[in-house]
Amino acid sequence: MSFNIAIDGPAGAGKSTVARLAAEKLHFIYVDTGAMYRAIALGLLRGSTDIEDASALADALGKMEVSICHVDGTQHVYLNGEDVSGLIRTEQVSDMTSRSSAKPEVRKKLTSLQRNLAARENVLMDGRDIGTMILPDADLKIFLTASVATRAERRFLELTEKGEPCSLEEIAADIAERDYRDEHREIAPLRQAQDAIPLDTSDMTIEEVVEAILTLAREHM
Ligand code: C5P
Repeated sequence: MSFNIAIDGPAGAGKSTVARLAAEKLHFIYVDTGAMYRAIALGLLRGSTDIEDASALADALGKMEVSICHVDGTQHVYLNGEDVSGLIRTEQVSDMTSRSSAKPEVRKKLTSLQRNLAARENVLMDGRDIGTMILPDADLKIFLTASVATRAERRFLELTEKGEPCSLEEIAADIAERDYRDEHREIAPLRQAQDAIPLDTSDMTIEEVVEAILTLAREHM
């Protein structure tokens, strides 16, 4: 039997950074489900697919195969065999992802892939609906949050360090909009599972969050 940890929370709460580090320490496979949704969004953008047109969407999804593979502990995501890990972090892809992930056809495509991974391995899986929909029986569920202001500042620093011009106000507005879409969509909306442990990371360092996750994991194993 595998041991599964589900970490959910809104965009920019620092999930992927801390989840990756915690998984490494636990010798678990880290599964970043957002990257899978992003790979599909990239495919939809490349094909200029009108996602409001159900048959065009079904047609495009039918031609897409998403898979993941771990290289030195880092997850790489593949779209039809091409490693697209470096192409999915743009604002354009983020925006398309938050719209396309609300489509039931898109979610259905990724559900079995995610469940199969968790059935085979000890995973630490992060996303929006892992504790509520994908792994309702996960051994440990954590809901990571941080204020919009904190999340916007973190993203602002990240982009500024990369030399990308950006505005703090615009980033905050984008984050608030993505939260709204993720929380209000009909299917698999972002919400805390009843049995999830909330962790507000607004005033915590990355190391402190990782330590908190490791402590919870050890308590539940
Ligand atoms: O986690 P990340 O910010 O990379 O996710 C990008 C987008 O993918 C989210 O804003 C959300 O719309 C979608 N997503 C989702 N379900 C997941 C993971 C991500 O709907 N399990």
